[in-house]
Amino acid sequence: MLDALAEAGGAVSYWIEGRISERERPRLLLRLDGVFSLRCQRCLGSVAYPLQVRNLLEFVGDESRLTQEEIEDDSRDFLPWKKEIDVVALLEDEIILALPPVPRHEQCDFPDLKYAADVNMKSSPFSMLRELKGKITQ
Ligand SMILES: [Zn+2]
Repeated sequence: MLDALAEAGGAVSYWIEGRISERERPRLLLRLDGVFSLRCQRCLGSVAYPLQVRNLLEFVGDESRLTQEEIEDDSRDFLPWKKEIDVVALLEDEIILALPPVPRHEQCDFPDLKYAADVNMKSSPFSMLRELKGKITQ
C-alpha cells in the first residue's frame, strides 16, 4: 500500500458508530475522510486524492442465512461475525478499496525520457565493461 503513496504523510479522520440491525446483527457505520498523496503512474509526481468513504457493515454469523434480498442489497456490506474486530485492519481495507488502482493526474506528461535514457547509459553494465576494457588494453 505504501508503494502507491508519494508521501507517507497525510491524515485520515474516521468515525465509527456501532448499531444493531432489525435482525439483531451488529452493524458498524464507517466514515472516513482524508487526502492522500498518491504517486501518479504516468509522470511519477504526486496526486492529491480526496478520500471519502461512507460504509455500513453488517456482521453475520452464518452467511447462508442471508436472504436473496439482502445479498442484492447494496446499501451495506456483509462480513463474517467475529468476537473481536481489528478496527485498524478494517479501516485499512476500506481505504485500499476506496483508492484508485492506477492514480493519475488528469493531464500530465511522461517524465523526460531522454534524461532517463542518459542516466541508464551511464550506469549500464555495458558502459562499465567498455571502461574496464579500455583500462586493460592500456
Ligand atoms: Zn502525472
